[in-house]
Amino acid sequence: MSILDVASFAAGEWIVPDAGAREIESAITGRVIARAGQARLDTGAMLDHARRVGGPALRRLTFHDRARMLKALAQHLNEHKQTLYDLSYDTGATLADHRFDIDGGIGTMFVFASKGRREMPDAHVLPDGGIEQLSKTGSFLGQHICTPLTGAAVHINAFNFPVWGMLEKLAPALLAGMPAIVKPATATCYVTEGCVRLMLASGLLPEGALQLVCGGLGDMLDRLDCQDVVGFTGSAATASILRANPNLLTNSVRFMAEQDSLNASILGPDAVPGTPEFDLFVKEAAREITTKAGQKCTAIRRILVPEAQAGALIEALSTRLGKITVGDPRLKETRMGALVSQAQKRDVLAKVAVLEGEAERVLGDPGDFAVTGDDAQGGAFLPPMLFHCTDPDRARRVHDTEAFGPVSTVMGYRDIEHAVALANRGGGSLVASLVTHDPQVARAVTLGAAAWHGRIYINDRTSMAESTGHGAPLPHMVHGGPGRAGGGEELGGIRGVKHYMQRTAVQGSPDMLGAITGRWVPGAAQTTGPAHPFRRRFAELEPGETLVTAPRTVTLEDIEHFAEFTGDTFYAHMDAEAAARNPFFPGRVAHGYLLLAFAAGLFVDPGEGPVLANTGLDGLRFLKPVEPGDAIRVRLTVKARTPRTEDYGEVRWHVEIVNQDNEPVARYELLTMNAA
Ligand code: NAP
Repeated sequence: MSILDVASFAAGEWIVPDAGAREIESAITGRVIARAGQARLDTGAMLDHARRVGGPALRRLTFHDRARMLKALAQHLNEHKQTLYDLSYDTGATLADHRFDIDGGIGTMFVFASKGRREMPDAHVLPDGGIEQLSKTGSFLGQHICTPLTGAAVHINAFNFPVWGMLEKLAPALLAGMPAIVKPATATCYVTEGCVRLMLASGLLPEGALQLVCGGLGDMLDRLDCQDVVGFTGSAATASILRANPNLLTNSVRFMAEQDSLNASILGPDAVPGTPEFDLFVKEAAREITTKAGQKCTAIRRILVPEAQAGALIEALSTRLGKITVGDPRLKETRMGALVSQAQKRDVLAKVAVLEGEAERVLGDPGDFAVTGDDAQGGAFLPPMLFHCTDPDRARRVHDTEAFGPVSTVMGYRDIEHAVALANRGGGSLVASLVTHDPQVARAVTLGAAAWHGRIYINDRTSMAESTGHGAPLPHMVHGGPGRAGGGEELGGIRGVKHYMQRTAVQGSPDMLGAITGRWVPGAAQTTGPAHPFRRRFAELEPGETLVTAPRTVTLEDIEHFAEFTGDTFYAHMDAEAAARNPFFPGRVAHGYLLLAFAAGLFVDPGEGPVLANTGLDGLRFLKPVEPGDAIRVRLTVKARTPRTEDYGEVRWHVEIVNQDNEPVARYELLTMNAA
């Protein structure tokens, strides 16, 4: 069988392994299948390429351009994912594991593509939060903005997710406008290389946006500066070496670490045998122990159950795990594949020996178990292993030893407080899960454990059919955790994009802030367009373009008519004496909704035209009561435009309703869809 040369992609060139290469074995057969690495990589040229070619090309695009690029990349990978499945079997992964890694990675990219279009402007600057009023009259304001860092994002990934691990970091970096240099773990880099080749062959990425290091990273970290970012995923031991790099410290290089973690899953006191929650807990725990042969940073390492249920839980979980077929992941009947390498298997067995000092093995003998598949006898297989620790308070190693394989330890707790204390003994984890049908238990556990965990996953009979799993980081929700888990944070929607941007507080006049963000800011110049704004197409409207309507007097008859017509006969509109007793009203006042309706009547241009639909309003505030006899006018200003499709886009209008004394009585933002 020929040995695959896994190349690096540096400064636009594929570089094959040389004398400095390491051999890579198949997880299934133990035979050498590939080699990767160079004795010396020109890391200076790579960084230069990212900084001078990739970064500027990406930053010329808007957030929406880059989001469209991500969507097209994800579609391209989706069409070619079988190639990646075929490569990935040799990592020991089953088809179900591929779905987690490969489909999960592609799905993450799709989510960032969609969020980029829906939640970011079609611009080069991302406003962060709202305008801050820094002066009495509003002539001096503040706005936080985010702009992409101008260096390279260096992504160092763990072996267990060769595709998801890359894409979950790459998608937010590219969306932010930062080029990436990806360094996968050597053990599974051939799958990452396959994925990078697919992305480059698609022609969708600008030159220099993506480079790849298969093998050692050389002196790359020594060359980074404050415009670069390191995103690391791997063991706590490697993270502590890398984060102590003197150059990273001297230059305050952003360093995000996603490390290992002793994640706990808690069975609620109400979830006794016979409840749907007990069965759910057993099912989830078994799945977490066996997916990717337990090589998952989020896997359940510690199972916390009420002391009285420990026996029943061990019995039910052992029965379920006992049915798992271990072996060649290419075979349909296999439920759990191999660990990534013999070295990894040895590491797990060494950690198991540590656990055995404090816990009794109740399931799984690594010296005696069946492996399916004729070709699989040299592979790095292990059976699911379950331990029982009867004194988790005195024990130490069960709370700090990560056996990165199909291994978990059951511990009994006395009450919720004890369960929380044990969960927190992990010293900071990526995720803790809780299976309970009691909201008070959920509240107590969350308040006690949230500060120690990046994610809390609660499941019960209500959510179980649609829940996403204890171990699945979602692109919408943050992934990371304090302490032992690395102190980092990734994903979490657009939060994850901001890790690749600098947040800057910009202070100045409304016109200055408007020019920077491309949005009209209250207090900035208002202009009159050449026609009624409802007659102007999406692309013709300019931020600041304003319509001031004629006045309309609100009469008592209007108020009574509206009250009878809608059924809203609230006393403040109908009963003068009762209204006068209310501290907010001088007497009978107009309905707020009547004012909104009158406002539309004042600013709408009725004929068929570019305005396609009113899709909602944001931030509505009624500021001053309107009494019968008051005359209202509307100032309608284009605030921002966001393209949605080729045919139409969303216009955000700033609407202010004022009375005859020019005092604002209501303010809101109106959203319409306008033809392109
Ligand atoms: P690892 O041994 O710590 O390696 C992680 C990465 O660091 C690999 O790419 C490795 O490259 C690289 N590396 C090692 N030494 C380096 C150095 N001196 N300079 C630059 N790069 C270096 O971890 P692993 O064995 O691949 O992964 C398993 C661990 O990752 C587990 O502990 C697991 O819990 C953790 N993990 C965490 C998450 C998370 O999101 N928190 C996700 C997945 C895995 P080589 O392979 O070339 O040595």
